[in-house]
Amino acid sequence: MSAAAKAKREDPELEVVVLEQGAHTSYAACGMPYWLAGDVSEVQKLIARTPQQMATDGVRVDLHHQAVRINADTQTVIVRDLSAEREFSMSYDQLVIATGARAARLRIAGGDLDGVFGLRSLESGLALQRFLRSIRPRQP
Ligand SMILES: Cc1cc2nc3c(=O)[nH]c(=O)nc-3n(C[C@H](O)[C@H](O)[C@H](O)COP(=O)(O)OP(=O)(O)OC[C@H]3O[C@@H](n4cnc5c(N)ncnc54)[C@H](O)[C@@H]3O)c2cc1C
Repeated sequence: MSAAAKAKREDPELEVVVLEQGAHTSYAACGMPYWLAGDVSEVQKLIARTPQQMATDGVRVDLHHQAVRINADTQTVIVRDLSAEREFSMSYDQLVIATGARAARLRIAGGDLDGVFGLRSLESGLALQRFLRSIRPRQP
């Protein structure tokens, strides 16, 4: 999102499109532990810019759209619309790949049990919050 906003600022004539496979963009990942601990009252406070706000800056954000293949020869990306389960081709002049990282699973006995969470995306934070609210785990 930083690259998209910067590109638009540098050249307002550019058509900038962000493909995001998840449901959120532009949130403060570093604030998630404070939100889960209750120091930040609501998840909305972590969100810096919504897709609607980005649109007013001229950056189109396509949520639930996954880049599944890049063909550099034809300068196209095969995109899967996850909400409609369809694929289509999108052409580009310049492409920035910023796919981030995934949380590693613990490779220890019990590492895949319910209640063991990675905290990487806002979705994973929301899943952890649901668990904390429903199970209300306590120290033994
Ligand atoms: C709990 C936590 C605390 C942190 N604390 C700090 C801190 O205090 N200070 C600090 O500097 N940094 C901190 N970070 C790290 C910081 O948030 C990351 O460095 C930063 O988010 C990485 O940005 P990124 O754009 O590379 O990746 P991301 O923010 O992960 O963005 C990548 C996006 O690409 C999407 N994506 C991946 N593959 C595809 C695909 N094929 N098609 C479409 N979309 C795709 C993903 O869904 C994701 O939304 C923290 C991170 C976490 C999780």
